[in-house]
Amino acid sequence: MIENLVENGITATVLICDDDPTYLLLMEETLSSDNLNVLTAKNGVEALQAYLKHEPSIVLLDVQMPMLNGFEVCAEIRKHPKGKDTPILMVTGADDILSIESAYKHGATDFLPKPIRWPIVAHRVRYMLKGSETFNSLKESEMKMRQLAYFDSLTGLPNRQKFDESLEESIWFAAKEQKSVCIMYIDLDNFKRINDTLGHEFGDRVLKKIGEKISKFLKTDTVVIEALNNTAQAEVSRLGGDEFMILLNNMPNKNDVKAIAKSLVSCISELVSLDGYEVALTPSIGIAMFPKDGKSVTELKKHADVAMYHAKSMGRSGYRFYSESLNENAMKFLKIEGCLRNALANNEFTLHFQPQVCLKTNEIISVEALLRWTSPEIGVVKPSDFIPIAEDSGLINDIGEWVMRGACQQAKKWADAGIENFRVSVNLSSIQFKRASLLTMIKNALHDNDLPAELLEVEITESAIMNDIDQNIVRLNQIRDMGVAISIDDFGTGYSSLSYLKKFPIHTLKIDRAFIINIDTDADDAAIVEAIIALASTLKLNVVAEGVETKEQLKVLTKFNCDVIQGFYFSKAVSAEDITALMQHPLDKSLF
Ligand code: C2E
Ligand code: MG
Ligand code: MG
Repeated sequence: MIENLVENGITATVLICDDDPTYLLLMEETLSSDNLNVLTAKNGVEALQAYLKHEPSIVLLDVQMPMLNGFEVCAEIRKHPKGKDTPILMVTGADDILSIESAYKHGATDFLPKPIRWPIVAHRVRYMLKGSETFNSLKESEMKMRQLAYFDSLTGLPNRQKFDESLEESIWFAAKEQKSVCIMYIDLDNFKRINDTLGHEFGDRVLKKIGEKISKFLKTDTVVIEALNNTAQAEVSRLGGDEFMILLNNMPNKNDVKAIAKSLVSCISELVSLDGYEVALTPSIGIAMFPKDGKSVTELKKHADVAMYHAKSMGRSGYRFYSESLNENAMKFLKIEGCLRNALANNEFTLHFQPQVCLKTNEIISVEALLRWTSPEIGVVKPSDFIPIAEDSGLINDIGEWVMRGACQQAKKWADAGIENFRVSVNLSSIQFKRASLLTMIKNALHDNDLPAELLEVEITESAIMNDIDQNIVRLNQIRDMGVAISIDDFGTGYSSLSYLKKFPIHTLKIDRAFIINIDTDADDAAIVEAIIALASTLKLNVVAEGVETKEQLKVLTKFNCDVIQGFYFSKAVSAEDITALMQHPLDKSLF
């Protein structure tokens, strides 16, 4: 029978098992004096029962016992979930080397040779308990470290490290069982805007909510439940910033993945309410599948990333599957970046100018300077392909300065040639706009070319001035105070909040081509453009309609009293010489 023993001041429980009652009694006597709760068992079966019932901190096992011997008990304890780390001391014959070896083989922690030297037994047990305590606290801190190392502290979701390891494991199983694995790379569109306008702390709480939203979606959304069909599993991790990753195991069917992605886009796009704010966020999702799109963690992640960027470039808020052709795009991107580094030094850029025609006087009154790049290696590259890369790499600052100087130099030539009040417009990237050196850069370009500031205009996109509005107003005022005109480019595509326009010291609105394309066929577009023109007139701003290609479009704009037209209908961007030639003669009347 098992006997419960001394209770006072007890810190640990020891289980001793021996079929020799004398040993058992002596052992019990020796140990109980030492603040230990001692349990005894007189055979292997009892020992095991006692272990399961009391989960003692340490076990002493005799080897030779009827029914279950000490080795067998030891091995059984080790199988128990909590028995893995319990110290087990085997009581063996001192010179019985085979037994000692066997004891270790069965998982014993140490051995105690018989005949037992009683005075040291208690010390030995205490020593082992101490070791075990240290081990347990180490294990605990390891668990804590694991939590820190594998889980994101903000959202509590698995982090990048954990995701990588889970994906590695999934790939290993999938390869063995010929199953597929799918990963979805989620990036929140324009998340920076939330941090910039409402602060990082608010941004963090939004991210936490989004993490909860995705977790809940994976557990409860009917589309997901149906697609997973009890066999597949889904888990979301946060990679950092506004990036999340979903891992789907056992997903053989692309249509199911598609259904989940579609549903996920609408789930994330639902408004998030926080502190009285309604935050609207959309995700761009890139999807890659094992084994089709990659065979390793790195390859799959890279391809999901490529697909995600593609989703973004397709207009955000959507999902894209990876395909080889996307990778070609990524290669093209890298190639452009490499070539762009030397383009300025190698003189590969030129400036073209596109006329802006006044509908009141039917004359070309100004031009927009547009950058052209012909790389000897890749050929002609469109600004929409290389400007974002130049912005990402910081090259835009030097390139932008080159454009500014070139445009001022050309404007001065036209002024000197007697073309009066002929203004040149230069695009400023948001990166340039934020730079402290911007004003000096513009001043120097004007000064070095002896160009009056009134003959220069800068174009800034709506989105570039929408962050840190107060600071941007200061900056725009500085530009205006120099005498340089300011126009808002691609107007209508950004915030579409018109109220702030009053606060900005601007001269011109350039209505984006997107509204002009169907202006003669789409009543909504026509109404928007008419409203923008009316608003601009109230605010005493000039309006330029961009991207006019047909006479029909021109007619509608004339009816709306639009001031100025820019578009292929009159001319593409052409060389400075071609502009000079165009200025020699009035425009053909039949054009209007
Ligand atoms: P943007 O400033 O809005 O320039 C107008 C773009 O629309 C130009 O494209 C122009 O060629 C094109 N466009 C003008 N009329 C028409 C038309 O009737 N139909 C069509 N389909 N397109 C028309 P481009 O030259 O390819 O430049 C694209 C964008 O690249 C520019 O848009 C501007 O944001 C940027 N960019 C160009 N040059 C520079 C530069 O020197 N610095 C910076 N930061 N950005 C530049
Ligand atoms: Mg422009
Ligand atoms: Mg534009």
